Amino acid sequence: MAIATNQTILIVGGGISGMTAAIEAAEIGKNVILIEKRPFIGGRVSQIYKYFPKLCFPTCGLEINQKRIKQNSGINILTMSQVASVTGSTGDYEVVIKTSPRYINEKCTACGDCATVATSEIDNEFNYNLNKTKSAYLPYSNAYPQRYVIDESVIKTDEGKKIADSCKVGAVDLSMQESETTLKVASIIWATGWQPFDADKIQPYGHDRFDNVISSVEFERMMDPMGPTSGKLVRPSDGRDAKNVAFVQCAGSRDHNYLKHCSRICCMATLKQTTYITDTYEDGKADIYYIDIRAIDRFEDFYQKIKNKDNVNFIKSKVASITEDKKNKNPVLNGVDTEGYHRYANSYDMVVLAVGMQPAMDTSILPKDITINEHGFMENNDNNGGMFAAGCAADALDVNRSVQSATAAALKAVQVVNSQS
Ligand SMILES: Cc1cc2nc3c(=O)[nH]c(=O)nc-3n(C[C@H](O)[C@H](O)[C@H](O)COP(=O)(O)OP(=O)(O)OC[C@H]3O[C@@H](n4cnc5c(N)ncnc54)[C@H](O)[C@@H]3O)c2cc1C
Repeated sequence: MAIATNQTILIVGGGISGMTAAIEAAEIGKNVILIEKRPFIGGRVSQIYKYFPKLCFPTCGLEINQKRIKQNSGINILTMSQVASVTGSTGDYEVVIKTSPRYINEKCTACGDCATVATSEIDNEFNYNLNKTKSAYLPYSNAYPQRYVIDESVIKTDEGKKIADSCKVGAVDLSMQESETTLKVASIIWATGWQPFDADKIQPYGHDRFDNVISSVEFERMMDPMGPTSGKLVRPSDGRDAKNVAFVQCAGSRDHNYLKHCSRICCMATLKQTTYITDTYEDGKADIYYIDIRAIDRFEDFYQKIKNKDNVNFIKSKVASITEDKKNKNPVLNGVDTEGYHRYANSYDMVVLAVGMQPAMDTSILPKDITINEHGFMENNDNNGGMFAAGCAADALDVNRSVQSATAAALKAVQVVNSQS
């Protein structure tokens, strides 16, 4: 790895925001170290099936960014790495990074021989644990770096030995240990992103009890051909076609019991997800239960397009509870329609909870004077010295706005580096 100096920018988090900040800073000649806690970069965008409003696949944009990163020798990437501590001040930070062992080195050709001989299975984190993957695995087909990972659980077993023996290029290294690196850097960009609000916590909605109540992030994975149902839109309980689907907006958002903030993207994500149903089944139908639809600026056209469809209905109501019809495992939505003040108890094949975005940043490692707002997002202000937040570390944002935020953070970080020269 290139030696970090007070000319270096550290970026924590390799999602679309971290990748963007890295590319922008490196393409004007700055030295960048990008660290990512998962075994691959791309973040949660890589787990989305299609992008609103164009309904194109995120892989395309991710591949362009991967290519720009590969071509730039100024960017060094450390995967499976996290910040343990930060000390110092603007222009002169000392950061301790801990890197977990991948048990596979850079000789890996991603041939998959190790996965072929692996016998045990582990939860598939990429698919939100909805299915299993082998103990030797590529996190997903377009993962960058294209390098397998061996799960800790098999390292000291016969299976681990078999996996090592299967590799013809000597890429498996079962002796790898956790390592620690200390870096000197001028500026730090926090691009740690978001995590989905835990739908199990919304007790009245039964995500933890009813098979056919899923979250919006799980729905994205379900539609993906690499997802847990190989892209089939079916009910988790019995594999039957899910043709009549309800969407519950603000599931755990704008709610004092859970997340107080609006995540901004959930309305757009749901409008997009209705197309997954209507494009899959000619007789598919989607009902959206909402408080208000927040489709601003250029998204208004997309909202109007979906609103004009006969097979997508909008019901103005905060759903009070979800119960399950024991006969057929249909989720039943209960509440009051606030436009006509009718009580309803509507039955569906499946329900999707539009869960909010919660900041993923571990604030305990940040210096005390960093400004974190009441929702847990890092606010960019002068007290933060040479540290800047990018993308969903700063706020709940869509990809377009995350990229803008990351470009702005890169510019700020470059100014810190330049002021050291
Ligand atoms: C259901 C749903 C659908 C969506 N669909 C769309 C859509 O169609 N179009 C759109 O524009 N937006 C969509 N979004 C929003 C989109 O996912 C975000 O805008 C995007 O993920 C923000 O990227 P990010 O890099 O800021 O964060 P993330 O994608 O969360 O990336 C952050 C990265 O940082 C890493 N990280 C976190 N903590 C650490 C740490 N301590 N050390 C090292 N690494 C760390 C994470 O592992 C991750 O790789 C959707 C969101 C949801 C919930």
